[in-house]
Amino acid sequence: MAKDDLECSFCGRKKPETSLLIAGLDAHICDRCIQQAYGIVVEESKDEDGEELSQELVLSKPKAIKEFLDTYIIGQDFSKKVISVAVYNHYKRLLQKKSDDDIEIQKSNIILVGQTGTGKTLIAKTIARMLNVPLAIVDATVLTEAGYVGEDVETILTKLLQAADYNLEKAQRGIVFIDEIDKIARKSDNPSITRDVSGEGVQQALLKLLEGTTVNVPPKGGRKHPDQKFIEVNTENILFIAGGAFDGIERNIQKRLNMQAVGFSASIKEEVIEKENLLQYIIPKDLKDFGLIPEIIGRLPVLSYMNPLDTKTLRAILTEPKNAIIKQYMKLFEMDDIEFSITDGALDFIVEKANEYKLGARGLRSLCEAILTDAMFELPDSDEKSFKVTKDYAEKKLNKSSIKLKAVS
Ligand code: ADP
Repeated sequence: MAKDDLECSFCGRKKPETSLLIAGLDAHICDRCIQQAYGIVVEESKDEDGEELSQELVLSKPKAIKEFLDTYIIGQDFSKKVISVAVYNHYKRLLQKKSDDDIEIQKSNIILVGQTGTGKTLIAKTIARMLNVPLAIVDATVLTEAGYVGEDVETILTKLLQAADYNLEKAQRGIVFIDEIDKIARKSDNPSITRDVSGEGVQQALLKLLEGTTVNVPPKGGRKHPDQKFIEVNTENILFIAGGAFDGIERNIQKRLNMQAVGFSASIKEEVIEKENLLQYIIPKDLKDFGLIPEIIGRLPVLSYMNPLDTKTLRAILTEPKNAIIKQYMKLFEMDDIEFSITDGALDFIVEKANEYKLGARGLRSLCEAILTDAMFELPDSDEKSFKVTKDYAEKKLNKSSIKLKAVS
């Protein structure tokens, strides 16, 4: 066959009509067909990703989700269980094939109530890690109603887009953790007297996002670039997790429990109320009494609480989770060929100090840093092959450090 008579086995174009004709065993393909085929491959692989996602999600049953959470988060069993179910249902909702007779599954956004440093953010981070979805952590205190100084609620989605490397599809399946949601509680029962810029107004603005809507999001955030093009983000499949300490909410709970006990609710009367951990009795009404508007509470239907961290839990947090603080230091020293170890006495001492300074789990890390900085500075230049931290060593280093001064002042 003459060269010019060769043709593409897919579209039939003769060689002169193509820019390139590639020969196979007994077939040819032209540049245009290659391009088209490439397009199909890209499309198909997208579907495969989707399939992969669905398979992964279907595989992660609530018990598997909880087991994953267990490897990173100590205690908090109730919350971990509630959240495993909520996350499972949320992603079931995403996978729901739409048909006319389908019952529409509502979003299972979550609200976590518990003191600071008890692991609320850690839960959101761990879920995002497990599902391999982007996570945006935002602080509700910086949000204000549109038109006021502060950040518009849309910036929440800017952060999520950034976390997803501006991949819209990914962002729309991501997780948003809104910290300090309690700080936007309505300050008074009569919101109309003065404009409540950082309270009810923000709650109102958040409503739509939580429920699921399409929002024009400034990709770089802020209002300073009026020329920037907006990206349309649909929040329908974004899982929102809100967290807050709700300082003083125990009083509301106590009051309600007392009233129930006096009234007709025999079940509560008979049960012994654990006064040290009243959060476990929290119900949505308590959030309303605290100042969240009912619509917001309705859009955060999964309510759970975090237990305060006791000494035993703090001790476990130091060494047990998959990326426990002590394991991280071991790794750091190992990179310098130094075997790091720490005695039980030293660990107990660190926990004792964290309690004493009221630093909670957040403080464990700062205490370890204060104790280990000198060693991390000196040892890489030495010939030491091992390094053991005892209680005496920890005490000595901590006495020298500024943490002690900070705690005193
Ligand atoms: P919160 O969001 O409730 O204020 P975080 O999740 O930010 O608290 O917790 C602060 C740090 O304390 C985390 O980085 C984590 O190392 C540690 N931590 C807190 N609670 C736990 C827990 N239950 N299990 C393991 N680590 C915890």
